Amino acid sequence: MRDQTQILSIPSNWKTELSQSLKSVDELLDCLQLDASLLSGAQRAAMEFPLQVPRPYLARIRHGDPQDPLLTQVLPVQQELDTVEGFDDDPLDEAAHNPHPGIVHKYRNRLLLIVSPACAINCRYCFRRHFPYQQQRQNRQQWQSALDYIRQHRELNEIIYSGGDPLAANDKFLGWLTEQISQISHIKRLRVHSRLPIVIPSRIDDELLQWMTASRLQPTLVVHINHPNEIDDAVEAGLHRLQENRIRVFNQSVLLKGVNDCAETLIALSERLYDCRVNPYYLHLLDPVKGAAHFDVCESRATQIYAEMQAVLPGFLLPRLVREVPGKAAKTIVATTL
Ligand SMILES: *Cc1c(COP(=O)(O)O)cnc(C)c1O
Ligand code: SF4
Repeated sequence: MRDQTQILSIPSNWKTELSQSLKSVDELLDCLQLDASLLSGAQRAAMEFPLQVPRPYLARIRHGDPQDPLLTQVLPVQQELDTVEGFDDDPLDEAAHNPHPGIVHKYRNRLLLIVSPACAINCRYCFRRHFPYQQQRQNRQQWQSALDYIRQHRELNEIIYSGGDPLAANDKFLGWLTEQISQISHIKRLRVHSRLPIVIPSRIDDELLQWMTASRLQPTLVVHINHPNEIDDAVEAGLHRLQENRIRVFNQSVLLKGVNDCAETLIALSERLYDCRVNPYYLHLLDPVKGAAHFDVCESRATQIYAEMQAVLPGFLLPRLVREVPGKAAKTIVATTL
């Protein structure tokens, strides 16, 4: 059985790797030699939000360690089923800012396009775990009306591909969409927010580099890394390729209890990002989404961690500590004292 897994995990293209992702709790526990006592809680939680772990990410998880910071991000646990006051299905009130299927327009000059409903990995803390993605699927005709919206809103200067994970969409479609957007003269920048280059590094391939750099739009990729163990050689090589193609790369993280809620880890992450020439961008406080309360780090602990980071890191390696407040016109910087 293990031999077969090994053969299947020989890197090929990203779509093959994506299709080979682990989707069963049994298999995950077995691969990582974890105690079967975790099984029943995990199976129950997975019925609400399925388990999904791509193999290149699995390979970075330590065996036999139920506290591994990468495992904690993907293993369903019983606590997800607890009801905790203040943790809701749509904490960001995105439903109210959805003027058209596939669009979230909350910030004046930046607009999110929900380009793909799917993700390559299911992060247990994700604020989108309850988002009605199936309603966001659309055909080219519907994209035309999203493009009309962008044309009509001349205050926009940046389009952000979001999801789900936008890079779960195929390059042919992304190339078409980018080409269409590049013909709208008030749009200057294209930004892609994706975790795929981290969880399946082979996603950074020629086709992706082609459409990202082919138009006059200035390309930026914001990746999502929470812990330095997520960066292995393949991830580093992918990030390097992006920069060789003059794509600016930033990182955002979520502050997560049991994953990265200590200054030492976050300092190591910033240093590792610097080695990869990636700029730390945001450190988000958790959005209060139902099922994720056990990841919450309270604001006073967060600012204490942040002060410890500030004492050690140069300003350019310090991400901005932010939270998202529904109805605000931008992310809210969390006040810190030093
Ligand atoms: C985070 C976010 C953006 C981008 O915000 P920046 O501060 O420019 O990174 C845009 N629109 C929405 C709805 C967002 O949540
Ligand atoms: S949207 Fe991002 S954080 Fe949420 S599950 Fe997908 S990859 Fe993870």
